[in-house]
Amino acid sequence: MPSTPSALEITQDIVRMDTRNPPGREVECANYLGHLLSDAGIEVNSFEFAENRTSLVAQLKGRGTKPPLCFGGHIDVVPLGTKEWTVDPFGAQIVDGKLYGRGSTDMKAGISAFVHTALKLAAEGRRGDSDIVMAICAGEETGCEGSFYLSEVGALGEAGAVVICEPTSNYPVLGHKGALWLRVETKGVTAHGSMPERGENAIYKAARSVTKLEDFDFNIAPHELLGRATLNVGMIEGGLNLNSVPDHTEFTIDIRTLPEQDRDKVL
Ligand SMILES: [Zn+2]
Repeated sequence: MPSTPSALEITQDIVRMDTRNPPGREVECANYLGHLLSDAGIEVNSFEFAENRTSLVAQLKGRGTKPPLCFGGHIDVVPLGTKEWTVDPFGAQIVDGKLYGRGSTDMKAGISAFVHTALKLAAEGRRGDSDIVMAICAGEETGCEGSFYLSEVGALGEAGAVVICEPTSNYPVLGHKGALWLRVETKGVTAHGSMPERGENAIYKAARSVTKLEDFDFNIAPHELLGRATLNVGMIEGGLNLNSVPDHTEFTIDIRTLPEQDRDKVL
């Protein structure tokens, strides 16, 4: 019987799989984890919300005397950014006792930790009071499409507790802020760049709004665990060429809310 791979080995294997989202393409990583779990006798079901966008729900049976304990995580990772990396982002290299690679922290190590633990429990034939359910999701970074799909198709039942294995510096965090993502457009009137007075510049309009947002205050007290409600303008796009007055821009706002903030009121 093959020995159980360590959490470190599993992390290295899956960090080497490119699951940057966009575009995602989590299938290879999901299949790898699915095979590890099913080879250990753990029930695994896979769900594709789109082609090659595979999530898994795996279940290690317990005695069923307590409600299931669910571990959750995502296997997609954010893009690499524009700054050149000093290590191979998909190398999973260990330097001075630290593992480097995109997604090593957020959150392939977390996934590997619970997968390794489940494999070990299965190999040792140990059963707890609860079933252990593992929800391994594709497409978290761009709006939790994988999780929404699991919920839509009824892939998840009740759970007594849910542990999300996002990185929190090894400190348990009991909640997180809500997210409200907005896309804002400004419109203007185009004109030749040599005669801006004949047009209406959509970039200036966007710039004024963005500057106001920088100092925006939600006017509510910080939450004792979650801190302040925040707002970030993450993307801006506008104009077609250097010598025209732009008639359109788009920018995004990422608002992180506290429990007492109602979405509709924030809007
Ligand atoms: Zn994450």
